[in-house]
Amino acid sequence: MHPLLQPELLAQRWQKLLEHIRERATAVGRDAAEIRIIAVSKGHPPEMLESAVHAGIYCFGENYAQELRMKADYLQQRGYTVEWHFIGHVQTNKVNLIAPRATLIHGVDSARAAEALNRWGERTGKPVAILLQVNTSGEQSKHGCAPEEVFSLAETVLRLPFVRLYGLMTIPAPATAERVRAEFRLLRQLRDELRQRYGTTPEDFPHLSMGMSADYEIAVEEGATLLRIGTALFGERPPKLPKNVPSAHGQDA
Ligand SMILES: *Cc1c(COP(=O)(O)O)cnc(C)c1O
Repeated sequence: MHPLLQPELLAQRWQKLLEHIRERATAVGRDAAEIRIIAVSKGHPPEMLESAVHAGIYCFGENYAQELRMKADYLQQRGYTVEWHFIGHVQTNKVNLIAPRATLIHGVDSARAAEALNRWGERTGKPVAILLQVNTSGEQSKHGCAPEEVFSLAETVLRLPFVRLYGLMTIPAPATAERVRAEFRLLRQLRDELRQRYGTTPEDFPHLSMGMSADYEIAVEEGATLLRIGTALFGERPPKLPKNVPSAHGQDA
């Protein structure tokens, strides 16, 4: 058995994370109760998630629609009730896989994606909760709308009757702590401005999804409410096998 499949080890890491987050939150005068950890389980086998549930972890993040479905089915068939967050980029042709399972969809960065989710909501009568992903680093390769596009995109989203906007999400570029902090700050400023322009109460758009294993402390200091943590909890992800490439043992796929 892989040592990490032991629930005791996961429970230890989980408790350490919670403690650490509580410390950082308290240090900057925040209430740690407003911060949640999403355990990012992408790339790990479903058995790992089962161990996590035994360790008391009930909130998971996945990036790929099919992987989400596979793991959600696995846990459901075994009688576990967990909460799923979809943290990958939303492709319109995957909406039917994602929307029925995800409590919150973090990676919406276009009107097209939001409209596809709205159509699903209309069809099923269930509103879809989303965050808008913002490209705070300006790197061309990154998903997310440009910071200056957030408000026009939000206006479109706020007109969709079956989509609910809960806040913003970012994945910063790998950089120095100061650069990462500046990106988190930018996300918070954009959310605050969103609130001023379109909010009706100070509780509108509550969520800032930012902070991963390498930078969650900074994220806590800068106002994150949702931390997406994989490696610090589950260890390194197993390497991905390339798709449609014959293995060394021949075409055994
Ligand atoms: C993989 C991933 C994470 C988790 O990253 P770690 O560094 O393993 O904590 C968080 N957010 C997104 C969007 C990811 O793709």
